[in-house]
Amino acid sequence: MHNDVSSADAKPAKRPGRRTPVRAIARALAITLAVGVVALANVRDSSGSPAITVAATPVLGMPASDGMQHLEYDLIVASRVPAPFRLRSVEVLDVDHRSLLRLDGDKLVAATQPLDGLTPSSTIPASGSVAVVVDLLVAQDKIPARLIHRIAYNGTGAPTTHPSTRSINLPELAVDLRSALLISPPLRGPGWLSANSCCDAATTHRSGRVIGNKGVPPAKPETFAIDWIQLHGDQPFTGDGARPQQWYGYGSDIHAAIGGTVIEVRDGLPDSAPNALPAGIDRADTAGNHVIVQIRPDTWALYAHLQPGSLAVAVGDKVATGQILGKLGNSGNSLAPHLHFGLLDSPHPDAANSLPFVLDHYIVAETVDRDSYLAAFSGTGPLKLRPHSHPSPQSSTFPLILAVTDFS
Ligand SMILES: [Zn+2]
Repeated sequence: MHNDVSSADAKPAKRPGRRTPVRAIARALAITLAVGVVALANVRDSSGSPAITVAATPVLGMPASDGMQHLEYDLIVASRVPAPFRLRSVEVLDVDHRSLLRLDGDKLVAATQPLDGLTPSSTIPASGSVAVVVDLLVAQDKIPARLIHRIAYNGTGAPTTHPSTRSINLPELAVDLRSALLISPPLRGPGWLSANSCCDAATTHRSGRVIGNKGVPPAKPETFAIDWIQLHGDQPFTGDGARPQQWYGYGSDIHAAIGGTVIEVRDGLPDSAPNALPAGIDRADTAGNHVIVQIRPDTWALYAHLQPGSLAVAVGDKVATGQILGKLGNSGNSLAPHLHFGLLDSPHPDAANSLPFVLDHYIVAETVDRDSYLAAFSGTGPLKLRPHSHPSPQSSTFPLILAVTDFS
């Protein structure tokens, strides 16, 4: 089921009658790929045998719309021998050995996936690797500077050959304590669903990895990227939604979330018909028509899938916060009209790590029910909104996945 949420290349389920809008929402794309260098932590098991190794991507996070600090990273667990293993538990502790998170059973399976996909499985293939997606929630005034990990696993063969569960302890992992960058919403008006936002392991953004050199953890170019789709009520489009113009968000102005210098612009790619990923998209065209703005010496903002002919800036332009960059479209590898927005630590989206951010002001008006989101996505049920009893004004937080946000 998790695999259905956002697998960018899965075929939409067929059913008679009206199309279910969230099918498109939930699978709104992934721009993929990159190579990066991150922290590597080799470990040995309790007997000194290097049966598995564990590496980690950088621990990055931000205060989110649920009032908690989210810390995001992947543990890359590899079998170093030609035998498979099964993960039994992953525990995250602070340096005083207080448990902060324990993943086991179904939760561990849901958080564990192959490096190049998102099918849940806690089995580490022989001489292969899996990623354990960690979404660690802590109080905003109690962010640990370092983390400890205890990982239990055993073999998958007969009990006589793998009689016991073994455990390993990962060396301390540093938390990146830099504050997430404060920006303004790049869209205006009500009803913007944060589809494919952080931090559900089952989304294409959270599971997107670019595998680099052996032994180096993959880069994570989309962990904190958001696909924004506009809803009217619980619907993202009018009529049958077969044309981009029927989608409510289509043609909306896209504003610079923060000032900077335009370093890349792409225009001229056509909008695709919604509800199916376009065939034959070149890797270089994945982001469709897009703008990249350098906003810090080490940070770039990507605005992707813009409407052809709508781009209002050119390379070298200095843009101010709020300035219009172009209009929301459905170009590139896009299943439905939306804005893909994210911050990157490189000007190359296919060679970057995603960086967290917070929005200065917005309101979480409603939340889309996750089960209904999955059901609608698989064509078996309607989308359901879960209105907040009191709309939740937010300041300097990150809008989590399934939040429906109003921007001013
Ligand atoms: Zn996206």
